[in-house]
Amino acid sequence: MKHTKYIFVTGGVSSSLGKGIIAASLAKLLQARGYKVTIQKLDPYINVDPGTLNPYEHGECYVTEDGAETDLDLGHYERFLNVPTSQANNVTTGRIYQSVIEKERRGEFLGKTVQVVPHITNEIKERVQILGKSGDYDMVITEIGGTVGDIESLPYIEAVRQLKWELGDDNALVIHLTLIPYLKAAGELKTKPTQHSVKTLMESGIKADILVCRTEYDLSQDLRKKLALFCNVQQEAVIQSIDASTIYDVPNLMLEEGLDIITLKKLNLTHYKKPNLTTWNEFLNRHKNPKGKVTIGLIGKYVELQDSYKSILEAFIHAGAQNEVKVKVVSIHSEHINENSVKEKLKKLDGILVAPGFGERGIEGKIEAVRYARENKIPFLGICLGMQMAVIEYARNVLHLKGANSTEMNPKTPYPVIDLMEDQKNIINKGGTMRLGAWQCQLKENSVVFNAYGEKNISERHRHRYEYNNEYRNKLEENGLIASGINPETKLVEIVEVQDHPWFVGVQYHPEYKSTVAKPHPLFVEFIKASYLQKQSKTRKNN
Ligand code: GLN
Repeated sequence: MKHTKYIFVTGGVSSSLGKGIIAASLAKLLQARGYKVTIQKLDPYINVDPGTLNPYEHGECYVTEDGAETDLDLGHYERFLNVPTSQANNVTTGRIYQSVIEKERRGEFLGKTVQVVPHITNEIKERVQILGKSGDYDMVITEIGGTVGDIESLPYIEAVRQLKWELGDDNALVIHLTLIPYLKAAGELKTKPTQHSVKTLMESGIKADILVCRTEYDLSQDLRKKLALFCNVQQEAVIQSIDASTIYDVPNLMLEEGLDIITLKKLNLTHYKKPNLTTWNEFLNRHKNPKGKVTIGLIGKYVELQDSYKSILEAFIHAGAQNEVKVKVVSIHSEHINENSVKEKLKKLDGILVAPGFGERGIEGKIEAVRYARENKIPFLGICLGMQMAVIEYARNVLHLKGANSTEMNPKTPYPVIDLMEDQKNIINKGGTMRLGAWQCQLKENSVVFNAYGEKNISERHRHRYEYNNEYRNKLEENGLIASGINPETKLVEIVEVQDHPWFVGVQYHPEYKSTVAKPHPLFVEFIKASYLQKQSKTRKNN
């Protein structure tokens, strides 16, 4: 039987070096050479999953088909590979301990003292190998979150050491991603921090097989030689990762540096195919040579942090390339929008997206932005909370239901147009209890969304607690807010659209999670197309 190969990616010197992008790029290249690859992220924090984390802490929470709330790196994996991930692709220290403690309570350790080594490390090793043992993959790339030397990473590093020893050098390898800083005063790139982080790894018994060096300047042959000698790797295993203008350039940069070839050689896979990156490069070509430009307003309350809306921003890149236009995203804080400022803030936009979110802060600004988009016939996409805001706005301003709201924001609202369903009412725990993951949805024929998807039955990923209240459906529909997507099982309304408008769609789910380079999401593609048309017709009118 063919053995699954395991590739571990560790990080040194600094965080935020882009381990996720390097892992995804390597996976892309291996996939392009015909291998079946998946990527896994191990996160050393104690939360069971990032679902309970504020976006300011950890960026966006990404959701998989099977409803796992995960690290945003899984979004990169899916966008690069166009292969869905699952709960097994993201494991945190919290989850590891939870499962070891549950086993202890069941008496599964037969009276033994439960310890970090071997019990926690065994659990980590098991979680790494679950994906390999499924038989679905030739290779599993496991990214270890954090930086070597951190207290919380130690059990993971020990698990990697043991696995490497057990599986052998042909079946497991370690890629260490480090930083080569440039010291302006000295006019030099410095290798010492990398030497130290390789040494730290060595102290834990792990020899890095490949070094990927993040740098702002090209690494000379001399410097590569020096790094190889002092870090105990072959010279061809010193890979430069220079700053790129887009993350989508990284696979090609890694191809030029030979990261995939050295990986395959080290894993003793010598008969590899040529990489097929045709679709990827066609996308890149369109992305880099736009024929026009659209300006989209992203109305949210976590706009200070780019990572909070990662998947939405990436979905815009995919949709822009598909339409051959550059999408300029202007982030606007919803707390800065009110009746008086709305025109000033939104008048230059060709399209308006109201973002997902939780809690009351900033919602009145979002409602104002919806009203502006609806009344001025500006293409609009509302996602999750953004869809709920569209329903509230319509109820308040078209149906004249004063004080209409979601019971999340005002439990005493006289018109709870967005409300909790019975099955959510008795839930006390916050973690993992929302409506999560993929749900079926049936589209109404001849609707805007039906035309976008080109099919009647779709499935999209959810992450929310509150729902469209069907008691108001007749009234909303009679007045022109059409329910164009319905969950066939529960009859919950998943999509609303305004009839008398060029393009106004609100979706209870998160289309951004499913947009990939190979398959840009149809709603984003159509939203950008409508926004570009809007811009062109505005320009014509003004001339
Ligand atoms: N806060 C809303 C809910 O829980 C929307 C969630 C979201 O936008 N992801 O229903």
